[in-house]
Amino acid sequence: MSHDNISQLGEFGLISRLTTSVTTGQGVLTGIGDDAAITQLSPGMQLLTSTDMLLEDVHFRKRWHDPYSLGRKSLAVNLSDIAAMGGIPRWALLSLGIPPDLTLDFLDEFSAGFLAMATEHGVTLIGGDTCSSKAGLTISVTIMGEQYPQQIIRRSGAVCGDEIWCTGTLGAAALALQLLEGGAGRTQENEAIMTRLLDPAPRVSVGRALSEAGLVSAMIDISDGILADFGHIADLSGVGGQLFAECLPLPGEQCQIGQAEGRQARERALTGGEDYELCFTARPDNHEKIASLAKKCGVAATPVGIVTDSKNVVVCDSHGTPLDMSRGGFNHFS
Ligand code: ADP
Ligand code: MG
Repeated sequence: MSHDNISQLGEFGLISRLTTSVTTGQGVLTGIGDDAAITQLSPGMQLLTSTDMLLEDVHFRKRWHDPYSLGRKSLAVNLSDIAAMGGIPRWALLSLGIPPDLTLDFLDEFSAGFLAMATEHGVTLIGGDTCSSKAGLTISVTIMGEQYPQQIIRRSGAVCGDEIWCTGTLGAAALALQLLEGGAGRTQENEAIMTRLLDPAPRVSVGRALSEAGLVSAMIDISDGILADFGHIADLSGVGGQLFAECLPLPGEQCQIGQAEGRQARERALTGGEDYELCFTARPDNHEKIASLAKKCGVAATPVGIVTDSKNVVVCDSHGTPLDMSRGGFNHFS
């Protein structure tokens, strides 16, 4: 076949091209091809369902996001939601609005990236929808996972006195976006940072391990910065919290930089988007077990704060003194 553009393929040609290398997987009774997929939950487990949309020029730009990574990320951001519930990801639906000028190469790469991420996490693509779009590429992914009811972690379980933790490092994706917006290209030197934005790693195994070990009380994935996302835990749990600015794990590349940049790095860690790390709360006596379990999963876990019975989430210095964020910055760091 040597189709060089999408319209020659037609809708059904396109669907079969997108899905030829899809294999079957756990719980899939009927996958792609019928009017609806048929799946079977594992005995005793409940269904977790989440969906996320990626719109061209809103969530991604073709000049920054290569199609293979974009395919990976489209599924990764959904996997991150299953991870945040302590779930086991199983099935995904992929719906695409495709502009007529999109190349087949782009689509092939996108699909290869999506399916590679799916394979890495044991997810089967069981269906979707394919339409033509008049306004840019639209990607909508629905993911389904499962877990035993008593091991599903909600946002609402945090208790006063719990420690607040996060996985990995925070602020790298926001730094990458800042670099790209400033006109920087992807280079060997900034590849690690760029990867955090363009090809994030969803924390599925550590999220699942923590919940199955019964170690955490509430969990969320960090897509809008830990300040906002821990805020959701606080709201739904009816608690407050102190986040210790100096405890925030910053990406390695940012550790040896000057004070002004250190302040920006902490701001990015608190408020930057798209890190897709996990934020969770846990009783202090689980501290050692959490640290060693995370290590076993190959991910750092860092205590970054404490749940309080106030109604606010505040950022503090190492003495517990709240930092003034009201004037568009963290003045103690300047
Ligand atoms: P219908 O007309 O019933 O919506 P379609 O012709 O759109 O069916 O789809 C045929 C089959 O291909 C269905 O099983 C559907 O789930 C699947 N499918 C369509 N588009 C995609 C896609 N982008 N990715 C995966 N599966 C898809
Ligand atoms: Mg359809």
